Amino acid sequence: MRTKDDLELVHLTKRYGDTVAVRDINHVFTHGSYVCLLGPSGCGKSTTLRMIAGHEEISDGSILLRGQDVAPLPPARRGTAMMFQSYALFPHLSVRDNVAFSMKMKGVDKPTRYRAADEMLELVDMSHLAQRLPAQLSGGQQQRVALARALVTKPQVLLLDEPLSALDPFLRIRVRAELKKLQRELGITFIHVTHGQDEALALADEIVVMNDAVIEQAGHPREVFTAPRTEFVARFMGGHNVLQLGGERFALRADDVRLDGAGQAAVVRTVEYQGHHVAVTAAMGDEEVLAFVPEATFFAAPRAPGDSVGLAWDEARLHRLQG
Ligand code: ADP
Ligand code: MG
Repeated sequence: MRTKDDLELVHLTKRYGDTVAVRDINHVFTHGSYVCLLGPSGCGKSTTLRMIAGHEEISDGSILLRGQDVAPLPPARRGTAMMFQSYALFPHLSVRDNVAFSMKMKGVDKPTRYRAADEMLELVDMSHLAQRLPAQLSGGQQQRVALARALVTKPQVLLLDEPLSALDPFLRIRVRAELKKLQRELGITFIHVTHGQDEALALADEIVVMNDAVIEQAGHPREVFTAPRTEFVARFMGGHNVLQLGGERFALRADDVRLDGAGQAAVVRTVEYQGHHVAVTAAMGDEEVLAFVPEATFFAAPRAPGDSVGLAWDEARLHRLQG
């Protein structure tokens, strides 16, 4: 059900001279959901986020929140807050003063702004480091401070531009779980930009896939993964083959392809061990087919590049693509 707290983009467009960074996009971000904006570099994700936040003027369209067009409003009056890729903390201010900064600018008195800052630091588990300077924190800790600083304004919509990209792989997985937990606790909308499909699959209630300035597909992660609408989405989500069969294009999941002597003749090209499965590519005529073979199945009958194999799949697992 739609509510006035949903964020709606209507014909939203951004042009930079001759470049169209965002082309006429329409979307409703359901209040209280975790949405991942996913797509390759340069497809318009950051521009979309910056327009929502008010850090970028729009060329056309509108941005609706609480029943009004917030596009003409300055960032601080939109009910949105943005956490930047670089965190952008003030180096000479303590953690607490960084978090309290926006309230200081609004003229909020010191006890009130410190109380609010401390509450946010508690939320992100950083109370014990409130007196430190940013340079005395790890990357993960700086990120929490940046998060607290964005949340202190009590936004309805929190915008995060590649918030995990500066973290090492272990920390990234831990922090993403924390982000999800925080979003659930706060019950507000998170719009998280990423170019990592794993990250989007793990976090999102809804994935919005962008390509070349437009929204290519939006839906529940499982829907986007199992029923990609276009070849682009199938390839970008990974783990899919795109096959041309009888003039139509189909997606076929790599884990639906079996090595089976009775199947279609092919020649193994590459074999990569990936832990719980083995990724085998095989040339079948002009097409290169990717199969994820369960580890135990593979090692019961190991194959090497150059081997002849048969490839088989259940016809019902072919998923027809548009365009
Ligand atoms: P993404 O975040 O998906 O990597 P961006 O939104 O940053 O992509 O950029 C989308 C397109 O807009 C790119 O072609 C980029 O070069 C262009 N672009 C972004 N910001 C500017 C700018 N300030 N001036 C001119 N072109 C820009
Ligand atoms: Mg970007």
